[in-house]
Amino acid sequence: MKPHFRNTVERMYRDTFSYNFYNRPILSRRNTVWLCYEVKTKGPSRPPLDAKIFRGQAPHKHGFLEGRHAELCFLDVIPFWKLDLDQDYRVTCFTSWSPCFSCAQEMAKFISKNKHVSLCIFTARIYDDQGRCQEGLRTLAEAGAKISIMTYSEFKHCWDTFVDHQGCPFQPWDGLDEHSQDLSGRLRAILQNQEN
Ligand SMILES: [Zn+2]
Repeated sequence: MKPHFRNTVERMYRDTFSYNFYNRPILSRRNTVWLCYEVKTKGPSRPPLDAKIFRGQAPHKHGFLEGRHAELCFLDVIPFWKLDLDQDYRVTCFTSWSPCFSCAQEMAKFISKNKHVSLCIFTARIYDDQGRCQEGLRTLAEAGAKISIMTYSEFKHCWDTFVDHQGCPFQPWDGLDEHSQDLSGRLRAILQNQEN
């Protein structure tokens, strides 16, 4: 029987993607985190073993919008992949907000315990409360996760893979590249602990 996963959707509507992945750095009203992932075996390019989309509440939103953060829903599905310990895997996540402190800790724990899995996270925006979230990102990076800001190529890949685009090609919005560059600089400073 196929397991039932919480907060998963098949494909995002075009407007849902454009609204939630819009990468202007300061956007406090985006109250949902969208997380799309792909898991592949390492080596020559093969189709993904699994790919899904989760949504959950944003870190700054108090109370329970969807009951659980998208990153934790993602960690919930991993046991169902039944990963082979002798095989190396690459998991790529595309998220609208970077993870909160506690989700970052949980993801760090997962990759510390699963050395055969490499985790790359591409985020559209940085959720930054000037404190613990920054620490969470550093913990995650120190555990071995590769954290980057989404650029045109990741937005296009997400559009092509996870959006019900009905044949429409991805249209970048004004400022996409500039926002992406600004955020990359900020992420670099956070990871090097130069902001405090
Ligand atoms: Zn979280």
